Amino acid sequence: MDSRKDSELIRRVPGRHPTSAAGGMFRVFMDHSPLLACIKDRHSVIRYGNPAWARRLGKPLSQLLGRSESELFPHEQAERFQRSDARVFESGETVELTEQGGIVDGRQSWWHVIRFPIDDEHGERLVGMFALDVTDRVSVQTALAASEAHVKAVLDTAVDAIITIDTSGIVRSFNIAASRMFGYTAEEVIGNNVRMLMPQPYRSEHDGYLSNYLATGERHVIGIGREVAAMRKDGSEFPIDLAVSEVMGGGDHEFTGIIKDLTEKKRTEAELSEREAEARYQRERLTRLTRINTLGEMAAGIAHEINQPLTAIQSYAQACQRLVGAERPDPVLLTATLQKIAEQAQRGGDIIRRVRAMATDAPARREPADVSTIVRDCAEMATYEARLKDVKIILQLEPDLPSVPVDAVQIQQVVLNLLRNSMDALQSHSGERRVVISTRLSEHELSVSVSDNGPGIEAAAAQHLFEHFFTTKEAGMGIGLSISESIVKTHGGELCYAPTQPGATFTFTLPLVDPDD
Ligand code: ADP
Repeated sequence: MDSRKDSELIRRVPGRHPTSAAGGMFRVFMDHSPLLACIKDRHSVIRYGNPAWARRLGKPLSQLLGRSESELFPHEQAERFQRSDARVFESGETVELTEQGGIVDGRQSWWHVIRFPIDDEHGERLVGMFALDVTDRVSVQTALAASEAHVKAVLDTAVDAIITIDTSGIVRSFNIAASRMFGYTAEEVIGNNVRMLMPQPYRSEHDGYLSNYLATGERHVIGIGREVAAMRKDGSEFPIDLAVSEVMGGGDHEFTGIIKDLTEKKRTEAELSEREAEARYQRERLTRLTRINTLGEMAAGIAHEINQPLTAIQSYAQACQRLVGAERPDPVLLTATLQKIAEQAQRGGDIIRRVRAMATDAPARREPADVSTIVRDCAEMATYEARLKDVKIILQLEPDLPSVPVDAVQIQQVVLNLLRNSMDALQSHSGERRVVISTRLSEHELSVSVSDNGPGIEAAAAQHLFEHFFTTKEAGMGIGLSISESIVKTHGGELCYAPTQPGATFTFTLPLVDPDD
């Protein structure tokens, strides 16, 4: 607009500062403007104002024209206006800015204001002003900025790395935790393809994953999360847990990855499993050693047991010699005697088989086994000791028990330990000495009880039975029960003690199905 046309906008103001009349058309035009418009002179005296401006000030136009801004506005605000006007007067140029207005309905108002130089018909320099109420826009922007700042603060204080990428894999945000984790600054990563954070083969395949997902909607990581490998700036790889979520809205399509560094967790897990393996190894070693120790303690009995079939074989062999040397050898009797020799050899062989099994240092292995056979074998092995200690071993075994997945040698060790403890306890008993070994089948497990009519265990001692090195015996080691308990536990069962009247009962359970399967 040139200044001649501008001057037509200026309304004649009655009073001290008459201006030229506004043209009718422009007056109507300005009367309908939602923008506030006014014209002021160098002394901030209002030369023109449109109805929107007057409405904003809450007074009829007639009371505003010819008045100075310092009469119409609070002191500070009037000064602010004057400072802005002064810039226009000094520069002769249009000045456009968003500025604070007064408080309206308890809320800070904001205005987008354009100030420009304008001359009246006498050549006096004035300042014209248009103002648009932008309070709503500014408050939305302020809220947005606050929420962005909040989001940034949350991202920056997050322990997990948080990275957003667009559909082409270009990184849009990279929080502080991500910088710490990967060794890159946000500036080094933002704007680049996220594959720079991945080792091969992910690095060359990632673009393919993205486009495949966008084309098919088939999810592999999105919304699922998985363990993958990542790569630091220095080229070192590390394991991460990656959870990706998809964000769509406002035409934006982004993926946000939340990343946990699993390095520490993996290291701890490895250390733990190493320690567990070491503990398992030590436990098995101790189990084997106590088994060998038991064998040593039972050596005399075992020798005696083996001697018995040998003696029998010797006498049957002598009988055979006599039968063969007879005038009329009796073939039927001879065959029966030879059969007895075979049976005794078998018996001797069985004893050696059991001893060898006990002495094995083969690693623990679970296979379906018949618990009745295990119990019978133990009773056999303890026969000599039982006879020596005047103890009667009674077996009450349920018929047709199913096979259970056990390490037979270890279970034999448990039964033998319980049986020998009972026989030891019975030594202080003067009446009939009895140990009953019974089995019982229930829905999910099989239990074996070893019960004696000995003195039982005092309540105080009963609390420490399964502790290492707890013993009341002079030559006891106090590890039999603790090892038995750990064997039963690794089989998924339980070993417990219950007092009986009179005596003690130890019962252990074995699950019918291997708990580790
Ligand atoms: P040890 O036989 O070397 O003492 P164990 O761990 O096998 O080690 O047994 C620990 C203790 O439990 C025994 O010393 C004994 O006091 C007690 N005990 C175990 N079984 C019986 C039982 N049947 N009757 C009485 N006391 C028992």
